[in-house]
Amino acid sequence: MGKLVKKIVKTIKVDLDKCNGCRACEIACAAFHAKPKYSSFNPARARIRVVIDERNDEWVAIRATDYTKAGCDGRRTYTINGKEYSECSFCGTICPTRDLFYDPDSGLPLKCDLCEDEKEPLCVQICSRNALTYEEKEVEVEAEAEEQVKPAEMETSLKSLVDKYGLNKLQNTLTRISKRS
Ligand code: SF4
Ligand code: SF4
Repeated sequence: MGKLVKKIVKTIKVDLDKCNGCRACEIACAAFHAKPKYSSFNPARARIRVVIDERNDEWVAIRATDYTKAGCDGRRTYTINGKEYSECSFCGTICPTRDLFYDPDSGLPLKCDLCEDEKEPLCVQICSRNALTYEEKEVEVEAEAEEQVKPAEMETSLKSLVDKYGLNKLQNTLTRISKRS
């Protein structure tokens, strides 16, 4: 095993019993990430979405996590406190089998960044039902694995741009940017 380093893992826990589907978290997230900040609040641009199934009294807030070009090949159903939930209700993956977590204008994936440097994420702050809880915990990971995280994330972002605009356009844009800087 390689050298271990300490890392802070940040996450948001969702309490299914407290969420009432008000969607305030979507609005807060969209507004925080608008450019300029708070200039618009289109929930289609939120990195958190509330999966709603009114017939079954289901309201599940999920955050956008990883991007994938392919949909998953299996679907499971979970029963929690007597209610049945589809696996997709809990999945934050940005995948092609549903239209969640894609910017409506550019079509690029929208990933939760935990509101960057905010002390507490905006979706957590706005939730009046306390259905969302922000948590930080310290874990130990291998130093080598930790170094892999950022390049992998960068690769995901670049891949989505290549899928959207094609490699040539992306290369030309990067060349233009590098000449300016
Ligand atoms: S703000 Fe809270 S209660 Fe409202 S939808 Fe989001 S998680 Fe649910
Ligand atoms: S933590 Fe921030 S970026 Fe992530 S879903 Fe909540 S408001 Fe959006």
